[in-house]
Amino acid sequence: MIFVCDVMLGKLARYLRTLGFDARYVRQGEDPASFPPPSGQCLFLTRRQDRTGRPHTVVIRDNDPAKQILEIKEIIDRHVDPKAFMSRCLECNIPLIDTPKEEIEPFVPEYIYHHHDRFKTCPSCKKVYWEGSHAEEMREWLEKLADGTAR
Ligand SMILES: [Zn+2]
Repeated sequence: MIFVCDVMLGKLARYLRTLGFDARYVRQGEDPASFPPPSGQCLFLTRRQDRTGRPHTVVIRDNDPAKQILEIKEIIDRHVDPKAFMSRCLECNIPLIDTPKEEIEPFVPEYIYHHHDRFKTCPSCKKVYWEGSHAEEMREWLEKLADGTAR
């Protein structure tokens, strides 16, 4: 499942990446037509009200990214794979690669190096991730999700 997030949905794209989804982001000035077209495999998310009713398009109504993700919760629930959590660079949307601990040492703070054994790096921006490095965003998201579903 691919998500194309329109302008103003950058934070939502990061949430989707945290969950392991392929979430493209249309930056200001970029043409959405240069992204994969909406289809059964590719959902277009936008704030543009004039897109209401178009196929494979969800018009997002809330300003708050944590609430935005609730608007597509049912779709996410259908496709989410816990094994894919934290497998993608939050900046680049690229799958991370497992990297041996010894190669990581120069690039992370000492206490991180000593308290973690599994590291991943982004092949594009070279950012290093470890268990816990996504945790802040993840926890924030899960808390908002729990708020939104509490009845
Ligand atoms: Zn990256």
